[in-house]
This record gives sequence, C-alpha cells and structure tokens, in this order.
Amino acid sequence: MPDTLLQTGPGVLSPEQQQIRDLARQFAEENLRPHAEEWDREAHLPREVVDQLGELGFLGMLIPEEFDGLGLDTTTYLLALEQIAWGDASVAVAMSVHNSLPTQMILSHGTPEQKECWLRPMVRGEMLGSFALSEADAGSDAASLTAQATRTDGGWVLNGSKAWITNGGFGDLVLAMCRTDTSEDRRGSKGIGCFIVPTDADGYVLGKKEDKMGQRASETVGISFHDLFVPDDQVLGDPGMGLIYALQALNGGRLGIAAVATGIATAALEYAVRYADERRQFGTPIRQFQGMQFKLANMATRVEAARALLGRAAAAKDSGDAAATQLASMAKLFASEAAMYVTTEAVQVFGGYGYIKEYPVERLFRDAKVTEIYEGTSEIQRIVIARELYR
Ligand SMILES: Cc1cc2nc3c(=O)[nH]c(=O)nc-3n(C[C@H](O)[C@H](O)[C@H](O)COP(=O)(O)OP(=O)(O)OC[C@H]3O[C@@H](n4cnc5c(N)ncnc54)[C@H](O)[C@@H]3O)c2cc1C
Repeated sequence: MPDTLLQTGPGVLSPEQQQIRDLARQFAEENLRPHAEEWDREAHLPREVVDQLGELGFLGMLIPEEFDGLGLDTTTYLLALEQIAWGDASVAVAMSVHNSLPTQMILSHGTPEQKECWLRPMVRGEMLGSFALSEADAGSDAASLTAQATRTDGGWVLNGSKAWITNGGFGDLVLAMCRTDTSEDRRGSKGIGCFIVPTDADGYVLGKKEDKMGQRASETVGISFHDLFVPDDQVLGDPGMGLIYALQALNGGRLGIAAVATGIATAALEYAVRYADERRQFGTPIRQFQGMQFKLANMATRVEAARALLGRAAAAKDSGDAAATQLASMAKLFASEAAMYVTTEAVQVFGGYGYIKEYPVERLFRDAKVTEIYEGTSEIQRIVIARELYR
C-alpha cells in the first residue's frame, strides 16, 4: 500500500509536524501494535505504557513549555494521537482524555498554584488524569447530574457516584463535576462545580470495572464519593461553572476521539488492502475483482475524508474560528461513523477470517463502535451541528 495514502496528514505538514507524527508512528509500531491483541484479551494496560507516553512528551502536547509541555498546536497533537490509535485504540483514548480534558481544564481555569501542583506532574506523566461528568442516570443529559458538593469549613464535601470513568482507577486524579447549588434550577448548567480529586483521597471508592466490547485495555470504571473532603484550593475556577468548563473542554475532546477513530479506520483499511492482495479465490487475488476494488475504494475515501475534516476542525480550533464547535462535532460524527463503516467492511474483506480473533480486524471492529458513543453520541453531535446552523 502506498505510504502516501496512510501517512498523509491534514494539508501540508511542517517539518516539526512530520517529525512528531513519525515519532508517534514509530512508537506505535514498536511498542503498541505488537501487544494490542494481548492487552485486549487481558483487558489490561501496563502502567509503563503511560510512563513511556510521558517520556515522549505525549501527555502534555497542548500545554505550554513553561509547564513542561510541548506547546504544540491542535493539528500536531491530533496527528500524533491518530498514530497512537493506529497502534492501539485503548492507549489512544487514555492519552486523548488526559490531553484534551483534565489538563486543558486546569490550564484554562486553574490558579498558578494548581498548575504547579497538578498540571506540571500531569504533563510529565507522573500523574494520569481523568474526567468524571457522566453518571448512571446522567449521560447525554449531563446537566441532570446529582453528585453533590456541600460547603464546609475550608472546602467542600462530595457525595455521589460517577459512571464510565476512563482512567478512573488506573489514573491519579479525577476532575469531578458535582452540584454545588441546589437552589438553582437543577436542569440548568450553572450551579455545578469542578473538583480536583486525587484517586487516593479518603472517601474515593472504586466501583465496578466495566467488561467492555472494545477498547478493552482502556480502563472504564464506576467511582463514588463518600463524604470526600476537597479543600478550597482543589476547586477549579468558579464553583458554579464546572459544567460550562467541562462542556468547553469536550469540544477539544471530540477532536481527540475523531483522531482515535481515524487511526482505527486507517489500520483496518491497511489490513484489508494487504489481505485482498494476498488472498486468492477463483485463481486470482481477490483484489482483482471489481466488487472488491469498489469496497476498498469506498473505505479509502472515507478515511481520507475523515482526516481532511479533522484537519479543518483542528485548524478552526487553533485560529479561534466561530465554527470550531460545529466542526469538532462534524469531525467526531464523520470519523466515528467512517471507522464503523471501514472496520465493518474490513471484516467483510477478510471473510470468515475477519470474524475470528486470530486476525486484528475483529478487534478493530469492536474498538471502533465506542467512538460513536463516548464524549457525546452521534445523535448528540447531530444536535450540536444542527443547533449551530441557526446561531
Ligand atoms: C467506554 C466508555 C468510556 C467513557 N468514558 C467517560 C469518561 O471518561 N468520563 C465521562 O464523564 N463519561 C464517560 N463515558 C460516558 C459517555 O460519555 C456516555 O456513555 C455518553 O455520553 C452517552 O450517555 P449514556 O450512555 O447515558 O446514553 P444516553 O444518554 O442514555 O443515550 C441513550 C441513547 O439515546 C440517545 N439520545 C439521548 N438523548 C437524545 C436526544 N436528545 N436526541 C436523540 N437521541 C438522544 C443517545 O444518542 C443514545 O443513542 C464513557 C462511556 C463509555 C462507553
């Protein structure tokens, strides 16, 4: 398969962007892809992998150099993330959550002391962050969350449960959105605070680890807070604005998930192209059949379109374009549906061999599905896109 198809990033890349992308690709090829099948089977990711990401600077890609980050633009970050997902989607989602959500929120809303105490170690990879917005009964409708923060001397006491938390047990700190003001309209976006909660805090209780369909090596857990005390210096920004901060960060998070989806789709396309060349039926490689060529052409087109839209959305975010929110939702929607399409077709190209665990397209098919669900389902992305049409 020509390198140009798989390796081309959005638009013309600068030498620095090419270098970072190639570094991520090499790391994925040498350290992730060879283990992806085993980590999926065991539903386990060794913590050393996170340490390695930290050593490469991949846990602070968007953070300025003054806080030990790489200070890169969004496009460069997404180029690297796509390559990591090409190697292992579970590693990529851990990296995406950490880079797009908690680190960005502390950078945007944290005090200088919070940046020293939390952001700097997160960027160095000494602390892995997670983001706790969802609850069992508050998913798409995040504003209906019920975890409670009650004012006390010198801080807040948290009670309640959070669901589906990526890195929630594996990681070192959680940014938790909890209701600070019950007198407000409970369905409004104000009156919710964001709290920096170390996972070893008294009252932090780890719940069930979810037994997932795909991205199995990425840890997804329920957590609960039992009279967990958070001092005032661990409240992020205004204690009534946590949900707003979280929703703002999710605009960037959606680009990360779009990059993860594009990486999965690229890997599936690559395997399918190779297999169609090697597999012979009716005395010829199956790629000689026009029906197969059309399939591969459709897959390759979706991958390139996903990458192009992702590049456009990343550039919009960096330039402060008013369309950035809509484009982020479009990129996430399109790339995740492309990943589902391409991985489904890749299984088809492999025939019966696509349906067994011996070949990687089976795992990629399972890994792709959740990109249509987390950080806002495809239905929610369509709502955002349509809403922005009338702004
Ligand atoms: C593997 C995994 C990791 C996750 N990681 C995190 C994490 O780190 N932190 C975190 O906070 N959350 C996380 N989540 C939660 C995720 O963001 C939610 O699952 C997602 O937002 C959907 O919420 P829900 O599952 O409650 O589905 P629901 O909101 O109950 O939706 C069910 C269905 O109804 C549809 N629907 C809902 N509202 C509408 C509407 N208005 N119009 C049309 N259709 C609608 C949805 O699209 C969906 O198809 C994770 C989830 C998974 C599966």
